[in-house]
Amino acid sequence: MSSNELTERVLVIASGNAGKIREFRQLLAHLPLRVQAQPKDLAVEETGQTFAENARIKALTVAQATGQWALADDSGLSVEALAGAPGVYSARYAASDALRIKRLLRELKGIDDRRAHFSAALCIASETNEVLLEVEGRCEGLITHAARGEKGFGYDPIFEVDATGTTFAEMSIEQKRQWSHRGCAFALLDPALQELLHKQNKP
Ligand code: IMP
Repeated sequence: MSSNELTERVLVIASGNAGKIREFRQLLAHLPLRVQAQPKDLAVEETGQTFAENARIKALTVAQATGQWALADDSGLSVEALAGAPGVYSARYAASDALRIKRLLRELKGIDDRRAHFSAALCIASETNEVLLEVEGRCEGLITHAARGEKGFGYDPIFEVDATGTTFAEMSIEQKRQWSHRGCAFALLDPALQELLHKQNKP
């Protein structure tokens, strides 16, 4: 059975972020899925201690609320010398991208160990409260001493990828997809999701 012979299933993206929904729509375009945004009035608190826990909480909550399968992601930056901070608090580390970068560079002032990694956890849950798929992608790198590059968002200008020697902000979208934690997580999710959809369609 090929992908376009499968019955289409609704997949709700557990996020209120229009950019994220657009990105997932593109990434999932080749699959027999009707990708929808979560209801506007639904707010899910990220109370987990890990990226995987937060992705699971969001996927299960949105799947239950909508009665459909839901896909959630949670991501962030963990710095070795700061015992994993900002980690699950990456988005809440300061009030804006510029202030988050400023704070991180200040915390690392005079510290030689600049090792860090980005993580992205993805979870798909069913309306029957079941976790169907969980994956996590990682990208290893270093925190630079100053911002480099104009592209991307968040901590991109101060995260230099080990494999390329460039920051995320110096990469094209295609390069970032190839090396990033999210790209890596999606590469793990894609074949597993295809298999799951095939299984669901078997009589
Ligand atoms: P969330 O996954 O939407 O909760 O976002 C977590 C936070 O981690 C974002 O607000 C960014 O600050 C940071 N972050 C996650 N992924 C990236 C990335 O690819 N580049 C830069 N910052 C990121």
